[in-house]
Amino acid sequence: MRCLMCGELIRRDSFTELFQKEDVLCPNCREKWKRISRSFRFEGHDAFALYAYDSGFSECLLQYKELCDEALKPVFLYPDIGMLRRMYRGRTLLLLPSAPQDVEYRGFSHLRGIFEWLKLPVMEPFEKISGRSQKNLGKEERAAMRTDIRLKNGVRIPRRVVLADDVITTGSTMKGALSVLPEGLDIRIFACGLAEAPKERAETGGMMRFLHRGTGFRDSLK
Ligand SMILES: [Zn+2]
Repeated sequence: MRCLMCGELIRRDSFTELFQKEDVLCPNCREKWKRISRSFRFEGHDAFALYAYDSGFSECLLQYKELCDEALKPVFLYPDIGMLRRMYRGRTLLLLPSAPQDVEYRGFSHLRGIFEWLKLPVMEPFEKISGRSQKNLGKEERAAMRTDIRLKNGVRIPRRVVLADDVITTGSTMKGALSVLPEGLDIRIFACGLAEAPKERAETGGMMRFLHRGTGFRDSLK
């Protein structure tokens, strides 16, 4: 098969077939993704992220979300599908909301595309009220948007859930979603990418304080 990113034929000799899990990216493209496999706490819940929000991952996400390259939807979870299925067995994935105009522009639910591979129950229970995209907002404005998320009318949330997003940057969308969920749920949090290592303790108030590096390219994605 051909690599979904660069189109090169993916060759597997017997050695790599034995020791490498099958992938939909060629080894060269996958190498550009900075793997972190990080467990951390987010607002008191167990959270997990696979990749740093960095070169290879952020390039793919940009191409997928902004250039609407729907064919890329398997690349984000592919080598980890088995592990994630075991990790979240018995839970329902709650996908975080996008701004309505972004959904309309893409013509597909980009998160459903990413997470359908896990073959776990999936819900999209949230909606954004303002309809404003976060793309051109600063960090503080994004944080202020957390209350702009609400549950859709009449939606019933199962008890054991995973809040799932493509990437956690400021954490404001995730916090907003958490704030509208009913009490007493068993909640895990998952994101394919993480913009920066969270600080150690939530008590310092700085757990999700991320360093902002680079050109603003990353911010333009969300
Ligand atoms: Zn490639």
